[in-house]
Amino acid sequence: MSRSVTIVGAGIFGASLAYRLARDGWGVRLYERHEPGHPGAASGGESRLIRYAHGTGDWYTRSAWRARELWRELERETGRELLVETGIAWFARSEEGWEAESERVLRAEGIPVERLNPDAGQELFPSFDPQNVAFILWEPNAGVLRAAEATKATVEAAERAGAELQHEVAEPGAVEDDVVVWACGAWLRELFGLPVRVTKQDTLYFAAAGWTCPPVPAWVDYSNAIYGHGDLDELGVKVAPDQEGPAFDPERGARVVSPETEHAARTYLAQRFPALRDTPIDHGSVCQYAVTTDTNFVLAPHPERTDEWIFGGGSGHGFKHGPALAEYAASVVSGEREPEPQFGLGPRDHGPSLRTAGTA
Ligand SMILES: Cc1cc2nc3c(=O)[nH]c(=O)nc-3n(C[C@H](O)[C@H](O)[C@H](O)COP(=O)(O)OP(=O)(O)OC[C@H]3O[C@@H](n4cnc5c(N)ncnc54)[C@H](O)[C@@H]3O)c2cc1C
Repeated sequence: MSRSVTIVGAGIFGASLAYRLARDGWGVRLYERHEPGHPGAASGGESRLIRYAHGTGDWYTRSAWRARELWRELERETGRELLVETGIAWFARSEEGWEAESERVLRAEGIPVERLNPDAGQELFPSFDPQNVAFILWEPNAGVLRAAEATKATVEAAERAGAELQHEVAEPGAVEDDVVVWACGAWLRELFGLPVRVTKQDTLYFAAAGWTCPPVPAWVDYSNAIYGHGDLDELGVKVAPDQEGPAFDPERGARVVSPETEHAARTYLAQRFPALRDTPIDHGSVCQYAVTTDTNFVLAPHPERTDEWIFGGGSGHGFKHGPALAEYAASVVSGEREPEPQFGLGPRDHGPSLRTAGTA
């Protein structure tokens, strides 16, 4: 007999799970308080990076690589270009560290990766200063996802597979179904007291000519906690300082980029990409991370209510995994496998961040 599930939250976690379970034959209701892909949700940004490098985190490397295949599947199904394979250049500050660990895992998993001389940056970017770069780790199949569009495409695909989208604010204790999954992003903190820090994160877009992406790739400076990409879809050159920002309320917080973020972005641009030193800002955007102590995600049974699950803790790096994470989550909530302890609600240790070294 087919079972039914109610999923609360149509960000990329909830939407991908709705699509997966609807295809697996479940009856699916998907609640969303706003519109899927709305700009206040973490999944509603203009772009999100997809990379396979995760330091020693081989579970995440495999998940991101599997997600690439599933994003391509979704593109074929919807006829939309959601993943733009621009490549990502990691600016490694030392011979050993996150990038070297990532390289070892990528090679072991058979995922394309190259180690480039710092000067190769001058061919990848219209203007580049290799100062402080020991080597560039180049991921040719990494790139950029059109996030809000991909979220909407996933919800539409879920609806075509039979899921029913309802514009409703769901309250804990008031939703009944065979299985209920709370995939409410940063809202999980207020709903369940989930131990995540909800932080304000600013992104800036600079109006530079000649930086169209591709061919200009995406880039990450892990140790310096900053990343960005060239001008995709004429939105401007993206620069995102990645230090965890101040506490933020996802429903009521003021979405205004801080002068400190602008200063950090400008300082980095002037040093790394000197031609962008005085480039004007086109626009900025503000969104929130829901960060766990160790930056691992959360997929755990509700402590009191059986058949209810908490799914979130994206920690600033969840988007790319959406469809692969949903495959995994579907097998957990349907009882085919036990959830991994690393995603549980118990205490967690601080460890190396799976995003950048921009932890508090
Ligand atoms: C600035 C920024 C940059 C990022 N960069 C990257 C990146 O480059 N690569 C990457 O992989 N990831 C990145 N991330 C992280 C990624 O975007 C998130 O991990 C992911 O989108 C989280 O998805 P989610 O579905 O858990 O949450 P959300 O997308 O926030 O979705 C939660 C949804 O639940 C709804 N909701 C909440 N409460 C209720 C309720 N009671 N009833 C009904 N609906 C409700 C909300 O309206 C919302 O739509 C970034 C995040 C930010 C903020």
